[in-house]
Amino acid sequence: MTASFTNNSISAATNPSLEIARQQYKYNYSYIPPIAMVDELPDGEDFSTRWFCLLAQELKMIFVNTLITNRGNRGSQSIRDDVKNFILEAILKGAIPANISVIARLMQIVPQMLIRGFSTDFRELDDLLFSLVKESGLLILGDSFQRITKLLDRGKPTGHVKSLADYQKLFPIIPTPAIAKTFQDDAEFAYMRVAGYNPVMIERVTNLGERFPVSDAQYQAVMGSDDSLALAGEEGRLYLADYGIFNGGLNGTFPSYQKYLYAPLALFAVPKGSNPNRLLQPVAIQCGQNPEENPIITPKSSEYAWLIAKTIVQIADANFHEPVTHLGRTHLLVGTFAIATHRQLPNSHPLYLLLKPHFEGTLAINDAAQRALIAPLGGVDTLLSSTIDNSRVLAVVGLQSYGFNSAMLPKQLRQRGVDDPNLLPVYPYRDDALLLWDAIRQWVSDYIKLYYNTDQEIQNDAYIQAWAEEVQAYNGGRLTDFGEDGGIKTREYLIDASTLIIFTASVQHAAVNFPQKDVMGYTPAVPLAGYLPASILKREVTEQDYLNFLPPLDQAQQQYNLLALLGSVYYNKLGEYPQKHFPDPKVEPLLRSFQSHLEEIETTIKKRNRDRPPYEYLLPSQIPQSINI
Ligand code: MN
Repeated sequence: MTASFTNNSISAATNPSLEIARQQYKYNYSYIPPIAMVDELPDGEDFSTRWFCLLAQELKMIFVNTLITNRGNRGSQSIRDDVKNFILEAILKGAIPANISVIARLMQIVPQMLIRGFSTDFRELDDLLFSLVKESGLLILGDSFQRITKLLDRGKPTGHVKSLADYQKLFPIIPTPAIAKTFQDDAEFAYMRVAGYNPVMIERVTNLGERFPVSDAQYQAVMGSDDSLALAGEEGRLYLADYGIFNGGLNGTFPSYQKYLYAPLALFAVPKGSNPNRLLQPVAIQCGQNPEENPIITPKSSEYAWLIAKTIVQIADANFHEPVTHLGRTHLLVGTFAIATHRQLPNSHPLYLLLKPHFEGTLAINDAAQRALIAPLGGVDTLLSSTIDNSRVLAVVGLQSYGFNSAMLPKQLRQRGVDDPNLLPVYPYRDDALLLWDAIRQWVSDYIKLYYNTDQEIQNDAYIQAWAEEVQAYNGGRLTDFGEDGGIKTREYLIDASTLIIFTASVQHAAVNFPQKDVMGYTPAVPLAGYLPASILKREVTEQDYLNFLPPLDQAQQQYNLLALLGSVYYNKLGEYPQKHFPDPKVEPLLRSFQSHLEEIETTIKKRNRDRPPYEYLLPSQIPQSINI
């Protein structure tokens, strides 16, 4: 029953509270054209104080770590002098002009830092950074923050490394990410396809075609002489990662380096047999789409050729991950629903109440992203392979090519041919995400069935119909492939659609956001750009080629700093709705059952992690309720 929302005769267009919301939540299509974004961040959409506190904590770690790296890393006495000089400069040279309270606080912190030493355990520094970022609205935009960053940068290490160990210089305080020890292993490389930062790329193939002419001899040299390409294809054991989307993409040059984008093809195979723990193995890589220009490299090629080829796949994967999988297919997708939901659903509507907590902070972080992160001269321009225009287009293509209806998780897995655990036994992202998909769907289904008994009631709810229309409209959310013939005709569809929105805002975003810090933060494991063309693989390559191909130290430092920040901040938790958020007492038992379902999943995933290399990004305790970083 919902007397107030089904069979309603009030036109959705004339509800006065919605009139106000529509003034506040206006669309803008020119920030990342032609994607729908919010024109101006409405009051109440700003980050909370607690969010800024969490960000400041991470910022402090990065700040102290960078300060010590850049000011010499030469022993405590010298660091003390350097820090003192840094602070003096920051004040005298006007890094923080006209902000007496910040200067006063610095004066308090510095002597303490000098006495106590330079651990990251400084609450005072938390507070200071908090007031800096809070005062400037958003840290990346703040003048004082930018001036301090510039001073902080002075003395930073630059240039290509002489040995891999040189990247350790970037971690004088923060421990070097664990991936540093394993990233060159083939097993780790393959595991990233199914449990890494972009675990959505591989597709099952039956053969490779002329585009990627791996020979049986090459295949058998890796997978054994009792196996063959044809047999593996027949048995559903061949998986391809194809980065053809980057073919013809533009190479970036900002800030001052020639960077390269690659369009590789990478073949993986599951070994023969019936062991349920059989792991995917890398077989061959072709570093561009054209086989005439790009030799096929395998684990049997020379050490550095294989290492460069694998790293080229990592680079392509990272350049797909950030604009497409992460920005386009989580942040921007959910942002569209955040706007349409405020504009079309009254705040007492059951669907509004269900979805709203999953939008907290999303418009704010998206607004910050379009202003600073994905703007010219921002982090994406600096670090990723391509030109900023090209990266922005990739985000748009990423979202537009992701039809809403085919984005449902079970459908996605089926489309890529990776849904059958008998064929591809170890796929932690798939297995954990499906548990969560089902739990969310159960909760959404229980909840929606409280308010709608029949499909007819859904069809008669003018608010829901207006919402569905707006999500797709040219002067609305501009999403493709949404609804059933344009509208929402059935209860099942509303349940699926709501599940996908909540899943994307929580589970999917967590899967692709948090590996940014631990995995992508260690630059040699996942460089955001390459610094030599793939054509070097046409000749013998040396260790020094490999090192020159990796990002120089200044780029690596900035990559860690940016990704550590973006991969932190666990602001809220899936299933934890604000107190008394649902006024209807009938919701309480349904919600409790969802929460206990999440607890069971936590236990199941921990158990699974005993039998596979651990995958912890989808532990429910690690999944925020909404996209806010
Ligand atoms: Mn994010």
